[in-house]
Amino acid sequence: MDVRFWGTRGSLAKPGPTTLRYGGNTSCVEVRGDDGTLIVLDCGTGAHGLGQALVASGAPPHDGHLLITHTHWDHIQGFPFFAPLFIPGNTWDIYAPGSLGQELENTLAGQMQYNYFPVTLEQLGATIRFHDLGEGRFTVGGVQVTAQYLNRPVLALGYRLESGGTALVYSVDHEPHAPNPAAGHPGEPPSHVEDRRHVDLLADADLVIHDAQYTIEEYPQKTGWGHTPAEWAVDYAVAAGARRLALFHHDPLRDDDALDRLVEVCRRRASDADSGLEIFAAAEGQEIRLAERATRVSRNDRAPAPAREAGPQTVLVADDDPTIVHLLTLTLEPDGFRVVTANDGQTALRLAGLEHPALILLDWQMPGADGIEVTRALRNHEDPALRDVPVVLITSQTGAENTAAGFAAGVTDYLTKPFRPAHVRARVQAWLLRRRSEAPPQT
Ligand SMILES: [Zn+2]
Repeated sequence: MDVRFWGTRGSLAKPGPTTLRYGGNTSCVEVRGDDGTLIVLDCGTGAHGLGQALVASGAPPHDGHLLITHTHWDHIQGFPFFAPLFIPGNTWDIYAPGSLGQELENTLAGQMQYNYFPVTLEQLGATIRFHDLGEGRFTVGGVQVTAQYLNRPVLALGYRLESGGTALVYSVDHEPHAPNPAAGHPGEPPSHVEDRRHVDLLADADLVIHDAQYTIEEYPQKTGWGHTPAEWAVDYAVAAGARRLALFHHDPLRDDDALDRLVEVCRRRASDADSGLEIFAAAEGQEIRLAERATRVSRNDRAPAPAREAGPQTVLVADDDPTIVHLLTLTLEPDGFRVVTANDGQTALRLAGLEHPALILLDWQMPGADGIEVTRALRNHEDPALRDVPVVLITSQTGAENTAAGFAAGVTDYLTKPFRPAHVRARVQAWLLRRRSEAPPQT
């Protein structure tokens, strides 16, 4: 595969003399599969340059596939300026996470409404096909794509691309699920199940393009914003046995010299871990060819993107703190969920049996039966629906021991206090959509 960076900046375009070497445009990466399939990863302001280059490269058609991680501005602002979309005869397939309430086409049309942009989505000349994605694995031309949810205050997908015996992972706008996600003794897996899944997505990749917006020093002030400190991106890549790591989604405040220093810090970290991982900061205009390796990790196909279910889904919220119950109810009801509440563990168990919720959010510390005890009871329940329902523990505990105990009891994931409503909305969608994508395909 061939890779070219057209935009490497995160959050906000930052052109100017202090960002000349690494670039000021926001996320956009061009990938060519071995059969020539064109895949564009994200459509930030860097897409303008790519679009111009494609149109200048010869006669149409200039067809391609646009894989969007999520629809925050820095990942879609180049969309209305991407020249191939305006040319009749071109065909573009556009993929992004499909949430439970909003379709990709409507979201992209939103930023092209009359008040924001002079051309509407319907006026684009190319044939455009929209694909709302869940987790899963599918083929785009000659490239195998694996999509997996990231940890972000909006539903976001990371992508693993495989073609011609090489693997590339694009994982931007992701926050580790636990502090020091791959910490511990060298070779030990991360303690949080979700961080282990993330390492698995990166496993044995020839190139990992990873969110590295912050430093560990900056992170305490930025917790919950949905980004990875560069040092932890190194830990992920080392744990995954990746060959190369491109630090990406550079903070608008990080100038070229500061990025040079960050790369040095990251290289020392990899070397301290006795890793041969190659590390660099992605630079606008940089091109990389991925060469085939003899052995590869084989990946099993999983079910394709989930279909949406009709009717409102029920979420059970159990917490003895009425403020938390109220906050979660106010967060979930506008997204169309039916919220059932309990103030103690025994009531939660009884309601779970009566209501058959699609998702259960349980406080760890509750009178009667605590969250762990309720989870154990659900996992041993005679009703198979309750044995499989996703259970998320609400906690302010972050110690590895406690996390491990919860996972051992059958907890699906954690929601750590204090949490932000946007984060809750995104995670609830991911838990529900993933559950359905993991269900066996209907025959
Ligand atoms: Zn971003």
